[in-house]
Amino acid sequence: MKSTFNNYPEIREAVRALCAEFPNEYHRKIDEAKAYPEEFVDALTQAGWMAAMIPEEYGGSGLGLTEASVIMEEINRSGGNAGACHGQMYNMGTLLRHGSKAQKELYLPKIATGEWRLQTMGVTEPTTGTDTTKIKTTAVKKGDKYIINGQKVFISRVQHSDWMILLARTTPLAEVTKKSEGMSIFMVDLREAEKNGMDVHPIPNMVNHETNELFFDNLEIPEENLIGEEGKGFKYILDGLNAERTLIAAECIGDGYWFMDRATQYVKDRIVFDRPIGQNQGVQFPLAENFIEIEAANLMRFRACELFDQGKKCGAEANMAKYLAAKSSWEAANNCLQFHGGFGFANEYDIERKFRETRLYQVAPISTNLILSFVAEHLLDLPRSF
Ligand SMILES: Cc1cc2nc3c(=O)[nH]c(=O)nc-3n(C[C@H](O)[C@H](O)[C@H](O)COP(=O)(O)OP(=O)(O)OC[C@H]3O[C@@H](n4cnc5c(N)ncnc54)[C@H](O)[C@@H]3O)c2cc1C
Repeated sequence: MKSTFNNYPEIREAVRALCAEFPNEYHRKIDEAKAYPEEFVDALTQAGWMAAMIPEEYGGSGLGLTEASVIMEEINRSGGNAGACHGQMYNMGTLLRHGSKAQKELYLPKIATGEWRLQTMGVTEPTTGTDTTKIKTTAVKKGDKYIINGQKVFISRVQHSDWMILLARTTPLAEVTKKSEGMSIFMVDLREAEKNGMDVHPIPNMVNHETNELFFDNLEIPEENLIGEEGKGFKYILDGLNAERTLIAAECIGDGYWFMDRATQYVKDRIVFDRPIGQNQGVQFPLAENFIEIEAANLMRFRACELFDQGKKCGAEANMAKYLAAKSSWEAANNCLQFHGGFGFANEYDIERKFRETRLYQVAPISTNLILSFVAEHLLDLPRSF
């Protein structure tokens, strides 16, 4: 398989070398045990990869989203799942762009060394779903504290993170001029919160992804944990979401190449009717189509990264990269499974595991329909539908 994207060879080779110490068998066992890949995430942290985007003055390597995306891509391309640890990359960016000097000095060096993990972001709620501006979780200022009440759902890595960035309403929806105003973001010390008003209910699910329902009952947060200005949290979160979408696009691209590697190798080796199944154009053409679409998604992903790293608007590109990458990896997954015949279903081939993992990205962190709706409204100037 000859991809036209071999940029950042030093990063790729170094991440591949680390990932090679954690072969598919390791990730398969973690998946079967529904466990968290602690050793893998620790190895990535100790090697400095999880601190790639933290500036050097705070102990990181000061790289951009482009390089971070290459790291995430290589993890998925190796057979692993960056979903276990990608939260830190975009959460940390939110803190970096909007946190005060004191907050950056407090959190970033400890995140860089791995003493603290900032893997969790709490946005989604059960009764509002994608309609984020209608969130019902509130943060009410009382003296030098904010009191949090409400509920979140599908909040990932809570049990394997030390801190969460939480989105809550500080001004009721009825009292704001724009519905995107009046929400704020806070740093929440997860272990402290568990003792003081936050209940965590794990949600068993189809992928090995630690995700939870959270209930807040008068959880107190010190006022100094507010990030940036009160009321502007939604805008801050949106910046982070563009980074998240682009990183997840890169992960899907990594998955896509993994499926292509597996599929092309297998169809060359598997002999049925006295010839390799890959000699049939009915097998070749879908794989060729998958490859073209992954390469095209890659172009859009690097465009989104470039704009983000230049501090320019990249909402359209980040959304389109996520759409193309998630779609192409899912279609490559489907063909990889199909051309493995019965063997695709056997756990030891890892295809069914990666198939489940890449399927998630049709829905989270944003569903395909919502991206189409964004493009229709903002790029095609069609009437807003909701
Ligand atoms: C494993 C997992 C991990 C997650 N981790 C996190 C996390 O860490 N933090 C967090 O905050 N959230 C997290 N989420 C939540 C995720 O971001 C949401 O599931 C996703 O944004 C979709 O929201 P929803 O589930 O409420 O779907 P809904 O908003 O209820 O939408 C359901 C479906 O309806 C369709 N739909 C909805 N509105 C429209 C429309 N206007 N036009 C057309 N179609 C529409 C779409 O097909 C959509 O998929 C996670 C989810 C999963 C499954």
